[in-house]
Amino acid sequence: MQAMKISMFGTGYVGLTTATCLADLGNDVVCYDIDTEKIAKLKKGSVPFYEPGLKELIERNSREKRLRFTTDAKEAVENSEVIFIAVGTPDKNGRADLTYVFNAAETIARCMNGYKVIVIKSTVPVTTSEKIAAHIKSFTKYEYDIVSNPEFLREGEAIKDFMNPDRVVIGVHNGKAKELMIKIYKGIERVGKPIIITDNKSAELIKYASNAMLATRISFMNQIACLCEKVGADIKEVAKGMGLDERIGPRFLQAGIGYGGSCFPKDVRALAETLKEYGCNNELLESVETINERQKKSLLPKIEKALGSVKGKTIAVLGLAFKPKTDDMRDAPSIYLITTLQQKGAKIKFFDPVAMENAKKYFSERDKHAYLYCKDAYETAQDSDCLVIVTEWDEFRYLDKERLKKIMKSPIVVDGRNIYDPQEMKELGFTYVGVGR
Ligand code: NAD
Repeated sequence: MQAMKISMFGTGYVGLTTATCLADLGNDVVCYDIDTEKIAKLKKGSVPFYEPGLKELIERNSREKRLRFTTDAKEAVENSEVIFIAVGTPDKNGRADLTYVFNAAETIARCMNGYKVIVIKSTVPVTTSEKIAAHIKSFTKYEYDIVSNPEFLREGEAIKDFMNPDRVVIGVHNGKAKELMIKIYKGIERVGKPIIITDNKSAELIKYASNAMLATRISFMNQIACLCEKVGADIKEVAKGMGLDERIGPRFLQAGIGYGGSCFPKDVRALAETLKEYGCNNELLESVETINERQKKSLLPKIEKALGSVKGKTIAVLGLAFKPKTDDMRDAPSIYLITTLQQKGAKIKFFDPVAMENAKKYFSERDKHAYLYCKDAYETAQDSDCLVIVTEWDEFRYLDKERLKKIMKSPIVVDGRNIYDPQEMKELGFTYVGVGR
């Protein structure tokens, strides 16, 4: 296979993983970012976030000269046939902020030295590629095609998801761009995964609709969990019974303290906003969002009920990241919980296997009266009045419960992810509170 010359604008969770995996498929990839510090670190082999296996893959592909990093946009663009945009599209008043995407597209247009394929990997609202195509016309005299190629990888499983995706979606309106995209993804097609070729707008919507559907399943289960608590049913049993129905399937049926992260919350809000903008009813997604916001707050009354009042109490929080195997704390349920507990006069001890560095952005390490950074789960639980599970890291599942009981001031566990068996916890002498059981 002849190597394709590719550049990646944006070296965040998606851009860096995608660029590295594209290099690993045999392509010649250069990464560009406006964050010069990040690029300097990457050049030295330091990865700016935690993603299992990524460091090794970057090292290998850098060594074998298929992957490099630059702050020179012109050099990156001129030497590439295909340029990916994987910059952030954060929430701005309920809509996707497209400033970074438009800026990146403009930079690319200004640097072009011939025909280019510009691939939008960032999650963007339907019709964005059309708007970008029109916007950059005045910045270049060269021809270009805009391709919509949304990304579905999950943080923590990013390399596996990129190399072995359920599908690759390519929204394209031109034969030449289509051929180039198929060439890039040849390696993935060879492992038997379908490449869906469609129009740009459908591709843009596939991404939003997929995330919104997954978020809907979570909010749906959280609503059923509320009923389970009232009547004494067990949401885990309900989910098991539902998931065996092939039309439903077992995934994304876990009740808990709600979804977080950098994608679901903002994508649900943005799709709801787009529906409204086009005069479509968006009640369903508004409810999904409302249920989730309520759910994020649902552990607090459970903790208060178990403790009487949290004032002056020590609460041990296990897990800060929005899900296991990542250090990403953007929109994580832990932030609301810890902040509110602290405001109500509780002292918080916390631990996360990889997110402790990111925690410093949210909870001042210097405020020793309010937060105590701990080095493991047991140090966190030591002398605490209540242990709260916020992220379902495997290492929390297999803690020595007898030891926990001995070192805690009072054996109260509030399990926001239902990782423990209520019966077993009761038999061990814990006061155990889960979600929907
Ligand atoms: P991120 O915030 O981790 O990284 C974005 C990067 O883009 C930053 O390094 C930033 O410096 C850089 N950047 C900003 N403007 C730039 C410009 N003009 N030129 C070059 N670089 C620029 O973002 P992320 O989490 O990787 O998300 C990127 C996009 O992918 C978003 O649209 C997101 O919704 C989508 N997405 C994210 C995930 C995920 O799990 N994180 C999964 C699928 C899709």
